[in-house]
Amino acid sequence: MAGSIRVLPPRVIDQIAAGEVVERPASVLKELLENSLDAGASTVEVRAAGGGIDLIEVSDNGSGMDRVDAVEAFKRHATSKIRSLEDLARLSSLGFRGEALSSIASVSRVELLTRFRGEQEGTRVIVEAGVIKEVTAWGAPEGTLVRVEGLFYNVPARRKFLRTQATEAHHLKETMERIGVLHPGVGFSYQYEDRKSLQWPCTDQWAQRLRQVLGQEHFSRLFLMECSQRWCKIRGYISDPNYNRPTASELWLYVNNRAIQDRLLLGAVLRGYGQLLDRGRYPTGVICLELSPQEVDVNVHPAKREVRFRDPRRVQEELYLCVKRFLREQPWVRPLDISLGSSIPRISENTGAIPKNLALGLREWGGFSQGLEVQQGLREWEQGQSIRYVGQAQGTYLIFETQEGLLLVDQHAAHERILFEELKAQREKQGTPSQRPLLAELVQLDPPQEEILEGIRFRLAELGWVVEPFGSGHWRILSLPLWVDPAQAPKLLKEILDTRSGNRAVELESVLASLACREAVKAGKKIGPMEAMDLLDRMRKTPAWGLCPHGRPVYIQIPFSELRRRFGRS
Ligand code: ADP
Ligand code: MG
Repeated sequence: MAGSIRVLPPRVIDQIAAGEVVERPASVLKELLENSLDAGASTVEVRAAGGGIDLIEVSDNGSGMDRVDAVEAFKRHATSKIRSLEDLARLSSLGFRGEALSSIASVSRVELLTRFRGEQEGTRVIVEAGVIKEVTAWGAPEGTLVRVEGLFYNVPARRKFLRTQATEAHHLKETMERIGVLHPGVGFSYQYEDRKSLQWPCTDQWAQRLRQVLGQEHFSRLFLMECSQRWCKIRGYISDPNYNRPTASELWLYVNNRAIQDRLLLGAVLRGYGQLLDRGRYPTGVICLELSPQEVDVNVHPAKREVRFRDPRRVQEELYLCVKRFLREQPWVRPLDISLGSSIPRISENTGAIPKNLALGLREWGGFSQGLEVQQGLREWEQGQSIRYVGQAQGTYLIFETQEGLLLVDQHAAHERILFEELKAQREKQGTPSQRPLLAELVQLDPPQEEILEGIRFRLAELGWVVEPFGSGHWRILSLPLWVDPAQAPKLLKEILDTRSGNRAVELESVLASLACREAVKAGKKIGPMEAMDLLDRMRKTPAWGLCPHGRPVYIQIPFSELRRRFGRS
């Protein structure tokens, strides 16, 4: 076999490289979009057809290229973005490997139209299967258009690996979304075949872009989370725990502006959610990590989908803590409408403390004394802040006035959350105090209930319920929590079992939640000012009181500025 080693011809090398960069049509779109963004475009228009196999076209109003560069751009490792290895560390562009255009062109037919900013004349370059066919002067607006047709037409083997057009089209759309969501300052439009599929005008607000991309309904379930360290900044919108999905595909992670996939970071987010999320469910949202360049190597994956951290554990821990703190310590407010979107709570730097405007003075709330003041429904705070109980509406909503606005509390949801957290805390401390009635209560269960009971007997015991079979569908309640009236025990036990669906593993938390719900003040009960203020006081001491255990919001705030706006006073 002597003399059988050969250096591969450049065109073969390009095709091999293309296999790494261009997996599918969506990878072409990603590379072209990144090039437009790197070129400083403020509008990017995209057209695609036939799952992106027939056509992907990206045009931008960025810097454009002069004739020399327009040809150079198709050479492998041709890049205008770095000149040396040191540059890699200071990199702010999305591209730098100089492989994308050459790879794409080696497996398709590409037409490039471009005019360099300030130049009179544009250029057209046509490349087929990696061979430059034509370079001509061409009338073109400033900016660049790249049209890619017949992807993999010259490598049928690759083409076979593609999925249906519909699947590839789905990936194209997702690529638009994942990149578009990070660049609110750039206007995007996307047309798939004859449909105007997406249209995102540029905006100076990230929240607005999220709303454009995800839709108002999804966005309304997301909450701004921010943590900042010198070496690592985390900013994102994550979903309330009850808005979740069976896959992680709607939780988008970014490191230094690059969409990445990283199982360990995903795991860190899930750990942050902890018990708030069932196993096998995933939150949604967008999380951006920004690390100093020494902390992360972006040049480890041809399609730049993975990065390597200098200290992965440290990054995971930071993300985990950020999510956890956010979920546990933050009173959540469901944004009322678009105009209130900006009042979504944020974690202030490092401390995780509740910001002033949202604390509604509650943070400063000292001990509660049932003094005269309270009967007047007025309570002064240390910093001259006050909160006043105004009254109850529909026997359900408690209305308070604070310095910043109105605070509406769902009394049932609030009480439920308080009880839930108290039960949980109690359980963690000393287990649940229970009673053994003199005469064991009997309860008759139907087979599905029995099956569920079998599955959660040990969990119930932790809660103070000891139940044993007594033959033919009957069960004996030997012990029950102290706060349950023995006469009511059979009924309550059945309720707990009925709220369980099928034989899915039952989480202790959901058992607690149904207990809390049962015990909590029902909507419709009349509540006086003292009780109202007491409820508020206990709310303040309860972690994560923004949502009831079933995930409905506990309170809503309406700032006076919003009232003024609605009444046309401002
Ligand atoms: P990279 O982005 O890694 O530098 P590419 O192969 O994607 O490599 O692009 C090669 C070069 O072509 C870029 O460095 C850039 O100078 C130029 N280029 C590509 N697309 C555009 C565009 N839309 N506008 C201006 N210049 C572009
Ligand atoms: Mg590029």
